[in-house]
Amino acid sequence: MLCPVCGSENVVKNGTVHNGKPKVMCKDCGRQSAGNPENKNISQETKD
Ligand SMILES: [Zn+2]
Repeated sequence: MLCPVCGSENVVKNGTVHNGKPKVMCKDCGRQSAGNPENKNISQETKD
């Protein structure tokens, strides 16, 4: 799983959200988010 915010692989599972999806915390940017890689396909292409 990748961080949807910064795209880092340095994420850890941090429980689940109300809808049962896994919640992850990114060690790089510090953001917590529910895993949703299909809709949040923001890549380096977007950053540039
Ligand atoms: Zn991140």
